[in-house]
Amino acid sequence: AVVLGIETSCDETGVGVVADGRVLGAALASSMDEHARFGGVVPEIAARAHLESLTPCLLSAMEQAQVKPGEIDAIAVTSGPGLATALQTGLAAAKALAFGWDKPLYGVHHLAGHVAADTLEHGPLPARSIALIVSGGHTSLLLLGDLARDPIVHLGDTVDDAAGEAFDKVARLLGLAYPGGPAVSRAALDGDRAAIAFPRAMLGQGYRFSFSGLKSAVARQVEREPDLSVPDVAASFQEAVVDVLTRKAVAACLEHGIDTLVIVGGVAANARLREVAAERCAAAGLALRVPPPALCTDNGLMIAAVGDLLVEAGHPAAALDLSADPSAPLTKAVCA
Ligand code: ATP
Ligand code: MG
Ligand code: FE
Repeated sequence: AVVLGIETSCDETGVGVVADGRVLGAALASSMDEHARFGGVVPEIAARAHLESLTPCLLSAMEQAQVKPGEIDAIAVTSGPGLATALQTGLAAAKALAFGWDKPLYGVHHLAGHVAADTLEHGPLPARSIALIVSGGHTSLLLLGDLARDPIVHLGDTVDDAAGEAFDKVARLLGLAYPGGPAVSRAALDGDRAAIAFPRAMLGQGYRFSFSGLKSAVARQVEREPDLSVPDVAASFQEAVVDVLTRKAVAACLEHGIDTLVIVGGVAANARLREVAAERCAAAGLALRVPPPALCTDNGLMIAAVGDLLVEAGHPAAALDLSADPSAPLTKAVCA
């Protein structure tokens, strides 16, 4: 199916057009720089930026895709989770298009979008797989069946900070640029990842994660030794995160007899995570799937990809009074 996807859950305005699992065209705008001086995303600023960027992104994605409204089968939009005012901006645009062009509307769960992003690069998921979602607001190990049809089973989630949040907070502690993930990983390139033995939380305790203790350990280290090497701290911190994530993800696959691990979300763009995951999956005989970095962070294509799967599965469309659910739990791909 030809599906137009709209993503506005945080600070990225994403519009993408997908046809039968393939990318046709996309556009992305970010208000990231406008939030930098506040050290985090300001919802009102994000919502206003979405409003300004949506139409240009829509026109540019459709131009690149070379599709006319008549050729589109459905509109998909992130309806949760995310910032309420930001979600509402994308929802209003999606509803207007669905109504004006007379197309079915699908409300999509943002995290199902992160998972579906991988199908645009590597094709349909196998019948069963395990997904590790590592993003700015979430860290979860999931048991997946058919993404469009089956319930999503949580094997474990973070009990406090998300992995991306830990990168962002540690970046602040180290005086690195916002957003923190890319800055920490860049600093880590010149560092010794064995310099400081940071704690590996909750190893051997199932599939839950905890990253707030690690962040505090970094804070204490910086306080104790103010002139220690930023690259060494960054590399050692990154190694602690990557070690726990990959150990638990591989263990979950082996315990559940599943041979495919999919790692998605913004932190999946991290080069060291991709490297260690590849080593450990190869050693365990597992197939590893990670989207290209540009599809790991928020974008409109991943939402269109879920819409495409829902249309193909014959899933009923949402009503035009679909509302945003800022804290929607991830139980299925639709969010309505
Ligand atoms: P969520 O998807 O949970 O709602 P979000 O949409 O804000 O949150 P994403 O766009 O998936 O999050 O990812 C952004 C997060 O990814 C940020 O925390 C950012 O620091 C982190 N990130 C991005 N690139 C990297 C990288 N190279 N290394 C580590 N972390 C990264
Ligand atoms: Mg973002
Ligand atoms: Fe996201």
